[in-house]
Amino acid sequence: MTSARPVIVWLRKDLRLDDNAALAAAAETGAPIIPLYIYEPESAGTGPLGGAQKWWLHHSLAAFGESLRPLGSRLVLKSGGARTVLEELIRETSAGAVFWNRRYDPLGIAVDTPVKQALKADDIAVKSFPGQILHEPTRLLTGGGKPFRVYTPFWNALDRAGDPLPPADAPRRLHAPDGWPQSERLDDWNLLPVKPDWASGFGEIFTPGEAEAHRRLDAFLSDRLEYYDSERDFPAKDATSLLSPHLAMGEISPARIWHATKGLGGRAGHDNLVRFRKELAWRDFCYHLLYHFPDLPTRNWNNRFDAFDWHFDAARFAKWTKGLTGYPIVDAGMRQLWRHGTMHNRVRMIAASFLVKDLLIDWRHGERWFRDTLVDADPASNAANWQWVAGSGADASPWFRIFNPVLQGEKFDPKGDYVREFVPELAKLDDKYIHRPFEAPADVLSRAGIVPGEAYPQPLVDHADARRKALAAYAATGQTG
Ligand code: FAD
Repeated sequence: MTSARPVIVWLRKDLRLDDNAALAAAAETGAPIIPLYIYEPESAGTGPLGGAQKWWLHHSLAAFGESLRPLGSRLVLKSGGARTVLEELIRETSAGAVFWNRRYDPLGIAVDTPVKQALKADDIAVKSFPGQILHEPTRLLTGGGKPFRVYTPFWNALDRAGDPLPPADAPRRLHAPDGWPQSERLDDWNLLPVKPDWASGFGEIFTPGEAEAHRRLDAFLSDRLEYYDSERDFPAKDATSLLSPHLAMGEISPARIWHATKGLGGRAGHDNLVRFRKELAWRDFCYHLLYHFPDLPTRNWNNRFDAFDWHFDAARFAKWTKGLTGYPIVDAGMRQLWRHGTMHNRVRMIAASFLVKDLLIDWRHGERWFRDTLVDADPASNAANWQWVAGSGADASPWFRIFNPVLQGEKFDPKGDYVREFVPELAKLDDKYIHRPFEAPADVLSRAGIVPGEAYPQPLVDHADARRKALAAYAATGQTG
């Protein structure tokens, strides 16, 4: 029996023992700890989670629950509105405090702020902690005290700010409460797809959970960091960390990753180290933008794009989602997304550009599709990157820089290995035509077993023509640069 009142640790997208500031601080109080996950309504808090991320969440919760057992603890699962769940649990357990790690997205903040006020008014100690990003979004500001709008000065400020806080070690033991509150059953939340199980391919490359996040980090730092700068843009190469879904669910902290890279510049090369850190810093920049401009997922950051004349066409959009545009690099990316729940960063840029600039479909349709299908779907990174590609975002790629999907394919997938993996109909096509099958002579197609327009579709649009239309649509908004 302990006399101290329990501390509830409310876990959200921070399903980890290591460098979990809220959990570490709770453990230090010596009080009994109740680790709690609340499955919040779709429109609030953690949500809306896409289908792919629900799959991840299921496995991540299961793994986190298991990792608590050796510490003498367990994960309590509840569903419903956060405030109601917390107030009921406090009544039931006589908990005296609630600790959590901060969220920086508008839905999360809209839940957390009033919950904090309400609990404090009831004399419950509420403590929130940093740790989901490298630096708090209010810490890095321009000389004039304003949020950054451009990445490079943001990176310079982040670099100057020095290392993020040292990561906290995982607690060795968590005191259990005298009695455990009732937990809901994870299986009853129906997070996994059935009939059809469209997530069956995700397990080919991903294993959700903290242990795998650390294994992946170690493998990346020892085998791939030294090639990162030169190879990260080639989708057929296993050259990036694949840590993004683990970061998105908080199974590993960015500070842990940052600190793990310290001192590796000598062995892996300074350029590789800096390049990798700069990518992690992009994630922080996206959160910086979302925190200071909470409309980022729904409104053009540059409001001159509000006048843009988009042309939503349901049939074309469906073909894009299914990887049937007739441009192999785009189709390979969209099919990788469907099969593995991820897509290589370079190809995300190409596929997104194709939707927005070749098909003239509003970036918000693409953002929603990615949100539903990516295992790393993230409210900040997804919205900021879509706006970056569309040209409407902060420090965005200018609209008139329009990716040519054929040339991009030839540059970044020169032998077509990536295309062949995800678009098997083209597997036997000569390298010369792998990114432009619509130009292949009949005998080349027939040798590869391809009947034009049957096994693989003809291009949905002619890129040169689409490019002209995109530039004209842009000019019509009155923007010149
Ligand atoms: P690595 O190359 O190993 O990079 C390390 C980490 O840096 C990543 O895990 C990620 O956390 C961060 N990072 C790298 N590139 C970016 C970037 N451009 N923006 C923000 N963070 C970055 N990333 C997401 O995590 N969630 C999303 O929902 C998401 N949507 C995107 C949508 C579009 C249209 C585009 C172009 C990019 C999107 N990205 C998103 C960014 C990027 O594609 C992924 O973070 C990256 O592919 C993850 O692979 P990795 O972990 O192997 O990256």
